[in-house]
Amino acid sequence: MHSDSTLVWFRLDLRLEDNPALLAASQAESPVVPIFIWAPEEEEPWPPGAASRWWLHQSLSHLEKALRSAGSRLIIRRGPTDQAFDDLLEETGARTICWNDRYEPAVSKRDENLKRSLRERGIRVQTFNSSLLFPPETIAKNDGQPFQVFTAFWKACLKQPAPPEPAAAPEKLLAPRHWPKSLPLQDLELEPKIDWAGGIRAAWTPGEQGAQNALRLYLDDGFAHYATGRNPPALRGTSRLSPHLHFGEISPRRIWHSLRSARNPRNAADVDAYLRELGWREFAYHLLVHFPFTTNQPLRPEFAGFPWRKDRHQLKAWQRGRTGYPLVDAGMRELWTTGWMHNRVRLVVASFLTKHLRMHWEEGAYWFWDTLVDADLANNTLGWQWSAGSGADAAPYFRIFNPVLQSEKFDPDGEYIRRWVPELGRLPAPWIHKPWQAPPLILTEAGVELGRDYPLPLVDHDQARAEALAAFEQIRAHR
Ligand SMILES: Cc1cc2nc3c(=O)[nH]c(=O)nc-3n(C[C@H](O)[C@H](O)[C@H](O)COP(=O)(O)OP(=O)(O)OC[C@H]3O[C@@H](n4cnc5c(N)ncnc54)[C@H](O)[C@@H]3O)c2cc1C
Repeated sequence: MHSDSTLVWFRLDLRLEDNPALLAASQAESPVVPIFIWAPEEEEPWPPGAASRWWLHQSLSHLEKALRSAGSRLIIRRGPTDQAFDDLLEETGARTICWNDRYEPAVSKRDENLKRSLRERGIRVQTFNSSLLFPPETIAKNDGQPFQVFTAFWKACLKQPAPPEPAAAPEKLLAPRHWPKSLPLQDLELEPKIDWAGGIRAAWTPGEQGAQNALRLYLDDGFAHYATGRNPPALRGTSRLSPHLHFGEISPRRIWHSLRSARNPRNAADVDAYLRELGWREFAYHLLVHFPFTTNQPLRPEFAGFPWRKDRHQLKAWQRGRTGYPLVDAGMRELWTTGWMHNRVRLVVASFLTKHLRMHWEEGAYWFWDTLVDADLANNTLGWQWSAGSGADAAPYFRIFNPVLQSEKFDPDGEYIRRWVPELGRLPAPWIHKPWQAPPLILTEAGVELGRDYPLPLVDHDQARAEALAAFEQIRAHR
């Protein structure tokens, strides 16, 4: 085997296009050994959840095929990561390792330690940014402090030079004379033993090709109405690129440049609105890097004393979409079936859990973590802390979404509810948002008996709101 092989460590960058670590290795004109190491325990307390594991399996399988078409392979090993590297370095004689950065606190700490110990042993380690438009170290306030307000953060990003154009995928990768052994992908047991993934499979095409197709489809069909179309959950008004972005099957630079080059006076507002959402993703990573404790603790310290409630029965009703609030239930069932939920509805269900039920946002964050195919520590933490009122630039605690008004506003005909809560399918529009207020005759005609076919509301909105505000006053008083 060549002693000058370069190991390329794939992680959340499961693509060949615009992959700086792969590109650097391929340009070195020495053999390239692509590797993947499965070490979920090193990501505690946030190891990949069930839906993420399902996606990872599919994505690795696609990556393996893509690498084979480029004359290469994917070598799969199990952790501990340092042990896997010891073995691979010995087996390949490689003296260089390239990888793209990750920013999750446990992972980046592990990576720093690994980098130090490899370098001490004379191994060349090259790391790159592949997942962000503006790497965290490049953005700071004038006084050097991190941003905590999105608008100011995004303004600072837009003052930076534009992100570089995406680099093409290497066509051919030089293979080593002898390949090290690889575990079969199946051995990682990422797919569930009991197949619950039918709905997810029907909704998604993981992998780099699937990601490129999703972007193309969105550019051809969808994005011209993004600014207004992104809110109604019944429409396919958003790009659904989030799992592809999370797993690095597509580069944000590719999305940025595709949208920028499609920008014209008619769609400028839509393009800018879309890039702004990518900006929220950047902001989430900025916060994760500068406030790593926020994955499990509130950014606003007064929330550490918030009187959260515990109620297994109510938590389960929320998880399974049986709260009696149709929009909340539709969202939770969309999540359970497809591994994804519309952003507007994520806001409503998160507000419902943390404010109406007053349960700790971590309960919601862990449920999302296990069930979302786009579960992403930066975005999930930001979304939950924002919704609970305990995070950066957060919704003020006293602004409590009314799930009925949200439903009437964003799903006026009840189309989204009908899709996910079919037992209410025959209820006409004004009542489908609040079946408990429907006249008995209307319920009978729609074939709905509340408490039997569909639950009565778990809590009363006005009462829950008043209790949430009282709980908030309690922590304000102790500030
Ligand atoms: C409680 C809660 C939890 C969330 N958890 C996650 C999560 O685990 N993973 C995740 O990717 N997103 C999360 N989000 C953000 C958002 O809901 C999803 O990114 C979005 O719904 C994905 O759909 P899309 O790709 O069609 O988005 P589009 O509207 O097409 O947006 C394009 C991309 O921008 C990014 N983006 C959009 N909105 C946001 C946002 N509010 N915050 C950060 N990035 C954003 C995403 O990467 C998305 O793919 C969460 C939001 C909330 C309120």
